[in-house]
Amino acid sequence: MLVSSPVTTTGGLFILSAPSGGGKTSLSRALIPYLAQHNAPAEISVSYTTRAPRPGEEQGVHYHFVDVPTFRAMADAGEFLEHAEVFGRHYGTGRQRTDALLTAGLDVILDIDWQGARQVRQQHPEVTSIFILPPSAAELERRLRGRGQDSDDVIAARMAAARAEMSHHDEYDFVVINEDFDRAVAELAAVLLARRLRAPRQRATRAALIADLLASPRHIG
Ligand code: GDP
Ligand code: ADP
Ligand code: 5GP
Repeated sequence: MLVSSPVTTTGGLFILSAPSGGGKTSLSRALIPYLAQHNAPAEISVSYTTRAPRPGEEQGVHYHFVDVPTFRAMADAGEFLEHAEVFGRHYGTGRQRTDALLTAGLDVILDIDWQGARQVRQQHPEVTSIFILPPSAAELERRLRGRGQDSDDVIAARMAAARAEMSHHDEYDFVVINEDFDRAVAELAAVLLARRLRAPRQRATRAALIADLLASPRHIG
């Protein structure tokens, strides 16, 4: 029986993880207009964090920057879908906004670390997760330095943490190598677009078309 259910027509939940400097921020930003061109509205979830804003980062755009007591109060109130400590700072995904976007039919991209990914998989077993790897360790360090927004000691700590983060790549459904930027965007988009074509979703969203195609012919001869 072909029943339209909210489960198949809501947006899809996606996780992007990568070591710091792996390209999550720039790739996910390029992905949104690319998907919009393909009739697949998606939004990047804006996380809460207790780290300080980097130059150019805006409150509510790149992150919701909050202090530690505020973060703890939100965690205690169950307001996070997931939260984790990364580089000694707290990061978390707000539950309410994520749910609202999914219900509205948008795909939601969570730019989160492997610890958060594990928590999201427990609550949303249907989540699709993608790990982004750099083309080499040397290139990862070059990109991290090239971004020019972290001090030397922060970069050293992030390089040390990168190997640990990358060791979790095998917990993910898909792996994309961020060598050529445009190609990586297209590969990420392919994963998101494919979910929209899954048969149960197509049956729900294209029910009228399918009914019409299967109806008795109206014009004979
Ligand atoms: P930030 O968070 O505002 O610092 O931005 P990002 O770190 O995401 O990206 C910094 C800049 O690098 C942006 O202007 C990106 O469009 C640009 N960028 C990212 N990847 C590439 C690439 O492969 N080639 C070129 N030419 N520019 C890139
Ligand atoms: P993350 O959010 O994972 O920390 P960013 O998106 O900030 O990573 O990327 C780190 C740096 O690498 C940025 O300066 C970005 O412009 C650069 N970068 C990302 N992808 C590529 C690529 N394919 N080729 C060259 N530079 C890249
Ligand atoms: P950055 O400070 O470079 O933006 O992010 C540092 C790390 O924190 C990255 O590995 C990123 O994926 C992770 N991160 C960012 N937001 C969240 C979040 O909401 N939850 C979790 N678990 N990790 C996050």
